[in-house]
Amino acid sequence: MTTHDTHTLRELDHAHYLHPFTDHKALGEKGVRVMVRGEGIYLWDSEGNKVLDGMSGLWCVAIGYGRSTMTKAISEQIDTLPFYNSFFNTTTVPAVNLAHRLSQLAPPGFKHVFFTGSGSEANDTNVRMVRRYWDLLGYPDRHVIISRHNAYHGSTMAGASLGGMSGMHEQGGLPIPGIVHIGQPNYYESGAGMTREEFGVQAASWLEKKILDVGADKVAAFIAEPVQGAGGVVIPPDTYWPEIRRICDKYGILLIADEVITGFGRLGRWFASEPYKPDLITFAKGVTSGYIPLGGVMVSDRVADVLIRQGGEFNHGFTYSGHPVACAAALENLRIIESENLVGRVAGETGAYLKQKFTALADHPLVGVAETSGFVAGLNLVKRKAENVHQQVAFDADLAVGMVCRAHMFNNGVIMRAVGDRMIIAPPLVMTHAQIDEMVGLIRHALDLTLEEVKQRGWL
Ligand code: PMP
Repeated sequence: MTTHDTHTLRELDHAHYLHPFTDHKALGEKGVRVMVRGEGIYLWDSEGNKVLDGMSGLWCVAIGYGRSTMTKAISEQIDTLPFYNSFFNTTTVPAVNLAHRLSQLAPPGFKHVFFTGSGSEANDTNVRMVRRYWDLLGYPDRHVIISRHNAYHGSTMAGASLGGMSGMHEQGGLPIPGIVHIGQPNYYESGAGMTREEFGVQAASWLEKKILDVGADKVAAFIAEPVQGAGGVVIPPDTYWPEIRRICDKYGILLIADEVITGFGRLGRWFASEPYKPDLITFAKGVTSGYIPLGGVMVSDRVADVLIRQGGEFNHGFTYSGHPVACAAALENLRIIESENLVGRVAGETGAYLKQKFTALADHPLVGVAETSGFVAGLNLVKRKAENVHQQVAFDADLAVGMVCRAHMFNNGVIMRAVGDRMIIAPPLVMTHAQIDEMVGLIRHALDLTLEEVKQRGWL
């Protein structure tokens, strides 16, 4: 028996459902919000409230909700062949066609893909694949992977280890051996006294320092998100990535771009990392717009040649690697992205319009910095503004002003996420200019309400 009654759903949820990254005691006291429907860029909850989804679900619903051709592609595949695996010398039609399509969309030199069910599994695959690569080449000592503090690479043992979230490392004995971290290129946090460009070069130099500390002959790979998403939409200076590429080349280490968020147009390219020529690309989310779970790793010729030429069997794979329904959903999703020119629009008119409108929020008394990169954006809530960002005064972290702001956003019709006092969005790529106006208007209104509350509480 299923129920649709909100009160009952809340009770059952509290009684039975363990949510991701959730304090259940606190959630039980508050009561969960039940989302029931999506259409375009809007969601409705079980009490009839409509919200504009500024986060594309969880960075994934690029094409918006309720696309009927997605329903058709998915249901036709379920009718034809709902499941078959890709082990034991078999394949399926959608899996082959998607692998081919991805090889066309990926940067030059990428012809192969390994499918997984999620971004976390894809990053676990990376750990095993780069170690296998160096083993096959006769360098088994090259097993250390360098990542960054405050990175997010997933929630499995390897994913959470690659990630640099201290709260995750505190639980369950992480990171696993052979994974080390360097600082993130967060100009606001660490760039005082430098221009953005100078700071970008300095932040990249931390990679070289770590390589030398660990020993260059022990380092297998460096992994990073082009723009850190869950860490708070940390947009690196333009000088950062070219330096990272140069350093990886200097020491011959593999570069893994985790494009789970940034892939498939979010930063105005099919793959944001294309200019700095990664060796492996992690993807998930936007590949199906979240309609069906799917992830994977795009494998460059440098790695694929070794795996295939000398590899023998790579003892790794998932039941749902190349799931035919997920692959059919991805093919239709990619067709929509292409036919509606969503990548080009984010690179051009809608990306520019979002930048213009969102950065204008910097005139709000609570906003220290407001910036965008393609269709991700972040703003810093500050106690005192200043021309020089390093002289701005932050709120006491214990006040959790970001959470106060997030509640005003949600209760007033727009979903915006809080990472500390950094407020972030990653809206659906299908947004029109009018919808961008609407979203930014809702954000400004919620900022006004936050300011009122902050004043009332005497926090200013
Ligand atoms: N990498 C990045 C950059 C991510 O943002 C995420 C999820 N937010 C993941 C990996 C993990 O993906 P999943 O939740 O599908 O396992």
